[in-house]
Amino acid sequence: MGKSNFDVIVVGAGFAGLYMLYKLRELGLSACVLEKADDVGGTWYWNRYPGARCDIESVEYSYSFSPELEQEWEWSERYASQPEILRYLQHVANRFDLRRDIRFNTTVTRARWQEKEAGWQVDTDQGDTLTARFCIFGTGCLSSPNRPNIPGLDNFGGDIFVTGLWPHDGVDFTGKRVAVIGTGSSGIQSIPVIARQAQHVAVFQRTPNFVVPAQNRPLEDHEQAEIKLTYRDLREQARHSIGGVARGAAPSPRPALATPPEDLRRELDERWEFGGLGGFLNSHPDTVFDEKAADCIAAYLRMRVRGIVQDPATAELLCPTTYPVGSKRLCVDIGYFETFNRDNVTLVDLHAYPIDRITEKGVVAGGDLHDVDIIVLATGFDAMTGALGRIDIRGRDDQALADKWSAGPRTYLGLMAAGFPNMFTITGPGSPSVISNMVTSIEQHVDWIGGLLADLHDAPQTVIEAMPEAEEVWTAHVTAVAEPTIFMQANSWYLGANVPGKPRVFMPYIGGVGTYRAICEAVAAQGYPGFARDGKGKAALPDFFSFLPMPA
Ligand SMILES: Cc1cc2nc3c(=O)[nH]c(=O)nc-3n(C[C@H](O)[C@H](O)[C@H](O)COP(=O)(O)OP(=O)(O)OC[C@H]3O[C@@H](n4cnc5c(N)ncnc54)[C@H](O)[C@@H]3O)c2cc1C
Repeated sequence: MGKSNFDVIVVGAGFAGLYMLYKLRELGLSACVLEKADDVGGTWYWNRYPGARCDIESVEYSYSFSPELEQEWEWSERYASQPEILRYLQHVANRFDLRRDIRFNTTVTRARWQEKEAGWQVDTDQGDTLTARFCIFGTGCLSSPNRPNIPGLDNFGGDIFVTGLWPHDGVDFTGKRVAVIGTGSSGIQSIPVIARQAQHVAVFQRTPNFVVPAQNRPLEDHEQAEIKLTYRDLREQARHSIGGVARGAAPSPRPALATPPEDLRRELDERWEFGGLGGFLNSHPDTVFDEKAADCIAAYLRMRVRGIVQDPATAELLCPTTYPVGSKRLCVDIGYFETFNRDNVTLVDLHAYPIDRITEKGVVAGGDLHDVDIIVLATGFDAMTGALGRIDIRGRDDQALADKWSAGPRTYLGLMAAGFPNMFTITGPGSPSVISNMVTSIEQHVDWIGGLLADLHDAPQTVIEAMPEAEEVWTAHVTAVAEPTIFMQANSWYLGANVPGKPRVFMPYIGGVGTYRAICEAVAAQGYPGFARDGKGKAALPDFFSFLPMPA
């Protein structure tokens, strides 16, 4: 047992927690990071499944806060694999000597606001009780894996592996019959790799996803050198962009619906060759708002699937038809569709053959038993609110955050929730978060929180809190911006639709990373309207809509 009272407690040691700790040290504040895992890395610590890698180019999916770090680190591929990203985060922890303020193997179970002490009391599964003036959650938006409620799952006689909790010593699939349940991003990344090893893979698909090729490749030395020369500009562009990236294919100035079909085809071919999310996200100004425009892109992607998958019936099953392209996070693949041309891979359509149960021998779907040795659950996450929901967080008057958010999360700027003073969420609901390059968004939040804490430096007893009116206005704004878009038309995890019983509320802010940054900066520059200090604050908020770019 070491020290137990700090200026700040940070929960989580992923990209968010590590940079938050660095920032707090810079501010001269005492801090303790509590982390469930036995090392740093967050997402990249837990998701060690075969094929795991980022879908934002590594030169952008990395910290920008230290130009020296940026210059030193060499990424080996355009999209780094999980081991490389984990090595990077371990390097960051070592380089900045962060580990000495991190307590590993420590899960936060409870956090309670202490009115009299004007601070937080945090309890852990190790039996420790720590106190701090501020509590900052960097618990991750995709860190709480879903275990599906399939009858008989626990009776399975073989091994079950969850992609988001993958064993550290790996899994040998050689000679094994494998069932992969789920075809979201983790399934799409892992299935090709598993299929190269296993005797047979049965892929259980509920909803096909739109998938674009990564066009991954080693990064040439000259490319790294060029990027390093212009890194500062690149980062600055990313900060003011829509998605937090600067190296994507440029958005077409022409709406998809106003583009002659042969021009559109040529353009989409180029985007396909460019690859990655950066090729297809926000490709045209109308695709986010107009389903018919999104249909043009969807038709192209379906045509690509039919061109790759040899069996026409399988190809049709792999073509998404029930939601607009872009309304769920696009998946990025390396050889996913080609995998279905292998003799040892079969696709099971769960609409036609729903899973009845799991027995000791395998998966029974539509009455047929798929006899397997291993089940891989690639069934996603309880996104954005899942990790926070697992902690008993109590604000003023012992109000539980879970109760406050029972009809959906409510925050002011995705940073604070009314009734929970001196508590921040990094990339919380109501901020661009999972809809962006998350490292850009994490750094923006950490810098903003750091700026606020620096402002409060000379007033150590001040209590800061989101005002209920501001929270209401911001939550309505987040919904209003999402409402006219195609995002509302899919049963996506952005809306919580993948978790039974979760309220259907669009959680991230889709106004764009640059717009959101401008809003946060304006709020800070105007003396933090909407945030009360010791119960007093300016309720007159900026007009958030005025920050959004005008439609062309
Ligand atoms: C497979 C995968 C690939 C991804 N690829 C990309 C990508 O290419 N681009 C992108 O922008 N985003 C991507 N993401 C999203 C990714 O989660 C973020 O980019 C980023 O890693 C989040 O960092 P974080 O620190 O906020 O959260 P995390 O990395 O999730 O870290 C949160 C940490 O908090 C800890 N924690 C949670 N609850 C507790 C508790 N109660 N007590 C103690 N510790 C706790 C967890 O153990 C974890 O270590 C991906 C996500 C996944 C799952």
